[in-house]
Formats: sequence, structure tokens, C-alpha cells
Amino acid sequence: MTDLQNGFPLGPQPGITYPIRVLYCGNCSLPIEYCEYYPEYEKCKLWLERNMPTEFERVMKLGEKEDGEGGGGEEEKKRQKRGGKGIMKARKKEDGPKQVCVSRAPRGKKKSVTVVTGLSTFDIDLKVASKFFGTKFACGSSVTGDDEIVIQGDVKDELFDIIPEKWPEIDEDSIEDLGDQKR
Ligand SMILES: [Zn+2]
Repeated sequence: MTDLQNGFPLGPQPGITYPIRVLYCGNCSLPIEYCEYYPEYEKCKLWLERNMPTEFERVMKLGEKEDGEGGGGEEEKKRQKRGGKGIMKARKKEDGPKQVCVSRAPRGKKKSVTVVTGLSTFDIDLKVASKFFGTKFACGSSVTGDDEIVIQGDVKDELFDIIPEKWPEIDEDSIEDLGDQKR
């Protein structure tokens, strides 16, 4: 019980503004940082955009930059950049191979979602792509990260036909099947 102290930072941490405010989402009632793990993230975003535009902007930025690195210092830097360029613009990847990856991830006990990454390596607008998938499969689809779309449903196999059909510049061979992934 008492060695909780060992792994836990004591005192104020650099880069964090005190007191820490935890904001809860009006859609899923989780702290807004966790909304992205909620199946209805799209609705959460709408709620957030409407009710907490500032936080919405911040969360969007976090999602965009989340490449594993954390830490308070980073956080502070991000905050200072606010008010700069367009917020939702997907970062273009200038280097690296062009490849789209698709995988399946569990959602609840019986359902799965399909995760598509790499579309922006082909300069595809993720918002347009997400909307396209949503319409095509008649299910929820949302942009969930820098270069990631989550489709609510197991449509992985269909994507191998549908992606090259919609975007002829993507060859079926440049779509990699990552199989089943944990999220
Ligand atoms: Zn939420």
C-alpha cells in the first residue's frame, strides 16, 4: 500500500498548470482525454466542439501529435503554439514509403472495428475518406489520429477492393493487412 509513493511523482510537475482541471465529456461522460477510446468519438467531438471549443482544439492537437512521447514539457509547448495554423489539417508525410495499412481491432465482446492508416501518404484527405467509408459501409467512421481512420464494423476484407476502386493511385498491393490488432 505505502510504496505507491515510489512510482508516483511528488510535488508540482514542470509544465503542468495547477490545479489540474479534469473536464468531462457531455457525450460519453469520460474525461475528454479518453473520448477517443469511446466508440462514439465522432459524437464526442461534436459535443466538445460545441461546448468546449478551446478544449476541442487542444484535444485535436494532442491527437495529431501523439506519437508516444508524453511529458509535461511537450504539453506546454503545444499550448504555446495554439492559435497558429489550421488545426485539423492532417500532417503530410514527405518521407517514407507510401502504404496503407488495415487491421481489425476488437470493440466490445462481439464487435470489431477496422483501422485504416497510411491514407495520407497518398495525399488523401482523411475527412473525405472517413465520410466515404461511412457512406459506403453505412456505419460510423471517424478520423482518430494523425493518419488513422476507424470504421465501426469489420470491413477489412472489403477495403482491398474498395480502396483501389475509389483511389486508383492506391494499388491493392500497397495495402497491407495487419490482421487483428489490439488497441
Ligand atoms: Zn466523450
